[in-house]
Amino acid sequence: MTIQYRSRTEIESIRRAGQVVMDILEMLRAATRPGVTTGELDALAASELKRRGATSNFKGYTPAKRVPPFPGVICASVNNEVVHGIPGKRVLKEGDIIAIDFGAIVDGWHGDSAITVPVGQVAPEARRLLDVTRAALWQAIAAARAGNHVLDISRAAQEYVESRGFSMVERYGGHGIGREMHEDPFIPNRTDERMPNPLLRPGMVICIEPMVNIGKPGTRELSDHWTVVTADGSLSAHFEHTVAITTGDPLVLTDLAREATGAEGRAV
Ligand code: MG
Ligand code: MG
Repeated sequence: MTIQYRSRTEIESIRRAGQVVMDILEMLRAATRPGVTTGELDALAASELKRRGATSNFKGYTPAKRVPPFPGVICASVNNEVVHGIPGKRVLKEGDIIAIDFGAIVDGWHGDSAITVPVGQVAPEARRLLDVTRAALWQAIAAARAGNHVLDISRAAQEYVESRGFSMVERYGGHGIGREMHEDPFIPNRTDERMPNPLLRPGMVICIEPMVNIGKPGTRELSDHWTVVTADGSLSAHFEHTVAITTGDPLVLTDLAREATGAEGRAV
């Protein structure tokens, strides 16, 4: 495991990428409504990246040779889809929820964030899933302090989610970020004491990204090699921020004031 420690200047560079990510995510949120396709959201994000002189860290991404390169600049995961949904012809309907995961490269530095957005009016249980997942992210961010360990972050989010009666997904999690989108360390969403548990030190920049299911924690991958769905078909939500560990409070590099003020949300 090679963990990078970034200078203040480097962290500011990552924040600039993070700002581009959040500006465009905000546009995607505003464009999300019944009748829009996930492919149209992807096209909007692609043109806004280009307009800002930024590039995509999602499009063409492939974790292994057997997996086809990811075709979009956003991941669009609707309802029972957890993460890595491929944008395309799917038309959003009133009552859907859509997780939009999005990243950008600016001057060689990467930012990465995700929000889950209601499409029109959604059921109260779906609304609550979004509130709990967003709040779990902020619980996790509050644990992202020098002197704590990676699994303290995982535990904070998982315990919060379980106390609200939902499940944190298995297997997936967050990651270091900087010159690459995915760097060490892995930040598991579910606590597993057998996993590496590095110390959090100032200068680490990590993505924290809880994925929460209304039902059980199990998932499976569809035959497109990308889309991850809940095994039991239940709704799933995903929120993510890029966060720097400092000598004091964690610094959210993809912050938007409104992301911190969801029903159960909390600023650090
Ligand atoms: Mg992401
Ligand atoms: Mg990520």
